[in-house]
Amino acid sequence: MKLICIGRNYTEHIEELNNERPDEPVVFIKPDSAILPNEQDFYIPDFSDDVHYEVELLVKINKVGKHIEERFAHKYYDEVGLGIDFTARDLQSQLKQKGLPWEKAKGFDGSAVIGKWLSKNNLDSIDDINFSLFKNGDEVQKGSTKLMLWKIDELIAYVSKFFTLKKGDVIFTGTPAGVGRIQANDYLSGMMEGHELFHINVK
Ligand code: ZN
Repeated sequence: MKLICIGRNYTEHIEELNNERPDEPVVFIKPDSAILPNEQDFYIPDFSDDVHYEVELLVKINKVGKHIEERFAHKYYDEVGLGIDFTARDLQSQLKQKGLPWEKAKGFDGSAVIGKWLSKNNLDSIDDINFSLFKNGDEVQKGSTKLMLWKIDELIAYVSKFFTLKKGDVIFTGTPAGVGRIQANDYLSGMMEGHELFHINVK
């Protein structure tokens, strides 16, 4: 399986969306080895002094699809979840400056947290799912699918033009504002619509 990740998909100022919306989503992939096993602690890798959390809404693909039309995209997922796209920001900045791919900064072991899944049937509206990340008890990030530049169904249509989606693939839909650095002994927890979907100790 693969993890398909979307770059910036939110702006802080919703009224500026139309002005600031980039032409196309930014897409990158994490290998399946990036998944942090359930209930395991996250160890800050020794190649970075500036690992950031990015809480993101996740979508789990339920069947094979390619060139999926947006109007049919809702048939390709039954569950949504919450995770973290851990990013070695210092390494990413170096790679970006040189115009090199981000994989080392985004796809390293443990960099993909995948929490518990919720059936979309149990959510009031896919277009307004609220979620938050708490660090040591303080809310540090807060998002809603209503603030996404590209909605879930648009993202499925877009990425399936390039990559065949397979059952079990996960889409990381981008992070809202508020990303920040983690340190050893931090405790992170992710909430979606009143459900805690993951919690992690940082080492
Ligand atoms: Zn991200």
